[in-house]
Amino acid sequence: MTPYETTNHFIEAAFKVLDLNPRYETLLITPSRELKVEVIIEKDDGSIGNFIGYRVQHDDSRGPFKGGLRFHHEVELEEVRSLASLMTWKTAVVGVPFGGAKGGIACDPRELSQRELERLTRAFVDKIAEFIGPKTDIPAPDVNTNAAVMAWIFDQYSRRYGFSPAVVTGKPVELHGSLGRGAATGRGCMYAVREVLKHDGKSLEGQTYAIQGFGNVGSWFGKLVHELGGKVVAVSDYKGGIFNGDGLDIPAVEKHTAETGSVVEFSKAEPISNADLLTMPCDVLVPAALGHVLTADNAKDVKAKYVLEAANGPTTAEANDVLDSKGIVSIPDIYANAGGVSVSYMEWVQNTQNMAWTEDEVNEKLEDIMVKAHVGVREAQKEYGCSMRTAAFVRAIRRVKDATDMRGIG
Ligand code: NAD
Repeated sequence: MTPYETTNHFIEAAFKVLDLNPRYETLLITPSRELKVEVIIEKDDGSIGNFIGYRVQHDDSRGPFKGGLRFHHEVELEEVRSLASLMTWKTAVVGVPFGGAKGGIACDPRELSQRELERLTRAFVDKIAEFIGPKTDIPAPDVNTNAAVMAWIFDQYSRRYGFSPAVVTGKPVELHGSLGRGAATGRGCMYAVREVLKHDGKSLEGQTYAIQGFGNVGSWFGKLVHELGGKVVAVSDYKGGIFNGDGLDIPAVEKHTAETGSVVEFSKAEPISNADLLTMPCDVLVPAALGHVLTADNAKDVKAKYVLEAANGPTTAEANDVLDSKGIVSIPDIYANAGGVSVSYMEWVQNTQNMAWTEDEVNEKLEDIMVKAHVGVREAQKEYGCSMRTAAFVRAIRRVKDATDMRGIG
């Protein structure tokens, strides 16, 4: 199954549980708009760089389209479509008034200079500017995009339409970004797993965690659980992983990563491959890099008790069945990593109201959103006797369907 088919497979499981009129199926699954654009830049050496960019707007019945922008050589339409759909359900699970979208440019940012990245971002904004906006579609950071990229988007869009900080979230704090946005997705993941553990009579403290991906989400999650007494036994990035059964000193790993560009060769750890990390003994496995890393092949060997889906779409449909059959609890992406879009919503509110919350205020609101969403997902799970994933989709689909019905289609 492609990523989009996998997402639809999960949605259909929830449709079945809800026994929805089939007319909703096509209506709720089909993306509203798909843009594919050629992005041309002049490279530093004078040659022409020719890239393909995408923006898929999936659903806006509950509010403006919302979703991240990814720079990665594997970006392609099918996956962007899947990620856009996941955003629709994610914003609905946590109840922030947005729809779902996603975008990306097929490129390897490591092969581009900062100036080339800036030109690429600005050229992409020029191509999609008439389709985005504070009330229509609001991009955000994702893999290989950060606050600096968001600042260029804000600036390029504002050159055309006037001062518009609310066109994009995840901006630098000095440039209308929100305090707490950088940490938000990792922090939200921490609240999500804390609530799930609490539900099972456990706490964050004393559990062991293996984290694949040590970028924005993985490193913030690792840092927070480490501070709260969790034992992070392995972390990895695209170059490989590191392992220490006594627990890694996460601040020291962060320092090493900042200095060398990777977690590998950290002195107080053994090397471990990305493949072995996924099947190593631990309590909580945290895929926090790319999609479809848990497959039919490796799911049977997963030894964790919980899979916290910090990444989007890390589990294939087949792997999901295997994990369910082994009694491993999947904390689904559309709930687990919703902290990012929740604080993006707060950033958008602050921008549109011209005011700023303190970091404590943002974190409190985020905690409240994640705790309430957990209660809602558990209620749906109890009502239908289904997995947490299906329950999260049930909660989301009901909200999107109701909004669609109330707004009407004709
Ligand atoms: P990032 O670019 O900051 O970090 C990605 C990390 O994954 C890096 O450590 C990178 O080296 C690693 N990685 C890349 N390819 C890998 C591979 N093949 N094997 C192992 N590791 C690999 O990205 P991020 O923002 O932390 O996003 C990570 C995941 O979280 C993505 O799936 C993204 O969609 C999801 N997510 C991000 C946010 C957000 O706010 N940034 C919000 C929700 C979900």
